[in-house]
Amino acid sequence: MTATTLPIRARALELAAAGELPAYVYDLGDLDTHMAAVRAALGDIQVYYAVKANPDPTLMRVLAPYVDGFEVASGGELDHVREHFPESRIALGGPGKTDSELFAEVHRLHIESPSEIRRLFAAGRSADVLLRVNLDIPIKGASLAMGGGATPFGMDPEGISECIEMMKGQDAVRLRGIHAHLASGLDAPTMLELAGAILDYARSLGVTEINVGGGMGVSYADPDSRFDWQTYGAGLAALRRPGETVRIEPGRSISVYCGRYVTQVIDVKRVHGERFAVVAGGTHHIRTPATKGHSQPMVIEEQGEPITVVGQLCTPKDTMARHVPAQLATGDVVEFLMAGAYAWNISHHDFLMHPKPSFHYVGG
Ligand SMILES: *Cc1c(COP(=O)(O)O)cnc(C)c1O
Repeated sequence: MTATTLPIRARALELAAAGELPAYVYDLGDLDTHMAAVRAALGDIQVYYAVKANPDPTLMRVLAPYVDGFEVASGGELDHVREHFPESRIALGGPGKTDSELFAEVHRLHIESPSEIRRLFAAGRSADVLLRVNLDIPIKGASLAMGGGATPFGMDPEGISECIEMMKGQDAVRLRGIHAHLASGLDAPTMLELAGAILDYARSLGVTEINVGGGMGVSYADPDSRFDWQTYGAGLAALRRPGETVRIEPGRSISVYCGRYVTQVIDVKRVHGERFAVVAGGTHHIRTPATKGHSQPMVIEEQGEPITVVGQLCTPKDTMARHVPAQLATGDVVEFLMAGAYAWNISHHDFLMHPKPSFHYVGG
């Protein structure tokens, strides 16, 4: 166990003694160190944090000094950022914007379809827009693809041309540039290839502000292998031409590592030869392993016969990790790693009406 993980372990044991598990424990010092390194690697490249990864204001307060703004994908996230960070720049995107979302006054509005431009005109609104493009380029190795073929996200180049045509001869809806978020789960060299294609496309339109999106890969199978921010930052700096504003909007790769979901073993049993540990809580608190179909990485204190770790829900989908080589007994504290993004906030909290976890912060 590395030094940076010790504050969480210590707090986990305190919480177990106090009967306060399950819990989320965030290491703010770890988040600060990570974000500082990301910021340093990015140089002149702007970074907006994608709030949907984890909107916890305590985490966002750590990130705020390092980011150029926040990217929000709904009116709810917009209100949240305005409440907690009234001074910050905001980019608002997302398919299916309601009028109040589309007409919100934000630093940048990410346009998803030609009809959004028509609605802005019809309502007599002004806005600074980036047009979201879905380029038809092959995307190898993505865990989720938002582009590179027919998807509901953004516009193909014909849709972009239609928007640009409509925007001629008026200056209320101002074309600031191009936005793209084509895939997630990619490594730095692949992300740079995509960024190169997006930049070339933006240049063909004569715009100088380019948001190349988020989606930097993380590995749940190998929590120690991290996205190569040095290579990515240096690569983007080499791609950027003078006078261009290049921006990224990562979420998962920023906040995922700082959080752990900590719980305790309630029961251990063997069924048809296979060992199971049932822990308090489960995927209604951390839906990540169910949505991604993976084993959530966990701290293994002592090696043992492979055991499948499940939660308290009455469904086989409530599986946290399969065949983990860990020695587990009733009462043991279990720490699931990489629980700082798309974890609590994507979970179905009310299913089965179990109590909610508590939230704790160390290293702040
Ligand atoms: C979700 C999303 C992001 C962040 O993606 P990560 O995989 O968390 O980095 C960025 N931009 C847009 C448009 C998104 O939908």
